[in-house]
Amino acid sequence: MVNHLLMISADLENLADIQPQGGCDDPNFTYLFKLRCGNCGEVTQKETCLSLNETTPSAKGKTEVHLSQKCKFCSRDGTINMITGRGRPFTQTDAETGTYAPLMLFDCRGYEPVDFVFADGWKAESLEGTKFTDIDLSGGDYADYDEKGECPVMISNVRAKFDVVNLKLVGNTQDGIQKYYEAIKIDPHYDRAYYNLGVVYSEIMQYDTTLNCYEKAAIERPMYVEAYCNMGVIYKNRGDLESAIAYV
Ligand SMILES: [Zn+2]
Repeated sequence: MVNHLLMISADLENLADIQPQGGCDDPNFTYLFKLRCGNCGEVTQKETCLSLNETTPSAKGKTEVHLSQKCKFCSRDGTINMITGRGRPFTQTDAETGTYAPLMLFDCRGYEPVDFVFADGWKAESLEGTKFTDIDLSGGDYADYDEKGECPVMISNVRAKFDVVNLKLVGNTQDGIQKYYEAIKIDPHYDRAYYNLGVVYSEIMQYDTTLNCYEKAAIERPMYVEAYCNMGVIYKNRGDLESAIAYV
């Protein structure tokens, strides 16, 4: 089992962030990409279209997966499952620093996802708070005008890549998480354990859980500077500057 994390990047003009219309785990958002067979190495001619709300029984018929298909060249079975909770909006800070933001995690067996194609179903918010919906990025860019900010807004130079997620790290992380929970069970007021849990969850990009852990750490130790700083960074990366400032 290999996990591939879809990472996106773009240039933004006068926009605070972009993300799928219904948020990063939008059940209707479609992901288009090609598949490379892990057995024979052939890449499919056409893009496969996946979305969270469409599942199919696996070849063995025991579980529901998001894709189950035989390679046309070598007939090897392959499946893909989408794992929610790993994405976040792509923000202006990302654009300025040339960073990629994670969008969706794919658990792939027998296939490797390649060549993600941008399509429709995106939304964006301008620096002035104007919301733009039904954005189609299939042409590679998007331009509109923000009446409130009296300025043009633009998305251009969209790009994507799939990063292989280190499963060993994820395995060690799970062990670490277990140990901190055991420590909290023994001492429910152990501020450092909540903080460390937050750090671990942040490494595997589960930011909602991360925020929860830091908040608990800050309840146990009201002047917990590191916890507040880390919360501020997460809100900043999300483009939520108001909350970010509140924590710094
Ligand atoms: Zn094959």
